[in-house]
Amino acid sequence: MMPSNCTFCGLCCTLTVRLSEKDIQRIEKTGRKREEFAVADTDGMPILKREKGWCTFFKREGKVGVCTIYDSRPDNCRDFPGKRLCDLAENPIYKHMSDNEESKRIKLLLKKAPTTETSAAAIEEAQKKAAETLTQTS
Ligand code: SF4
Ligand code: SF4
Repeated sequence: MMPSNCTFCGLCCTLTVRLSEKDIQRIEKTGRKREEFAVADTDGMPILKREKGWCTFFKREGKVGVCTIYDSRPDNCRDFPGKRLCDLAENPIYKHMSDNEESKRIKLLLKKAPTTETSAAAIEEAQKKAAETLTQTS
């Protein structure tokens, strides 16, 4: 269920979304083929494909993020964040991103449409670096 404080920032649509067979079949009913939207993660499990850092179904309209398959979205997207309020922006990975100049730049990019390969690569790189740092310090 959508959290009551959702700002439609789209941050959650940069996350890894695992797909069940039920999810895949539901999306296929919209006319898409599974190979167009599903890829395997490192465990061989199907996840939503991302393009330029965002889910392949994510689009930005003005300042808000839009799911273009909203009625057919995967269960994990329906359940996110699993509580009434969303605090993803407070997540350590994203919080870390606000701790230095590069991170501030990436955070700004996250607010914009994924229009260039550079911004997408920078976003993914920043997320990877943040995750590695957290792993090293935890
Ligand atoms: S990250 Fe949270 S606030 Fe942003 S779109 Fe997703 S649910 Fe809404
Ligand atoms: S399917 Fe929709 S809600 Fe789920 S990650 Fe993609 S754009 Fe976001």
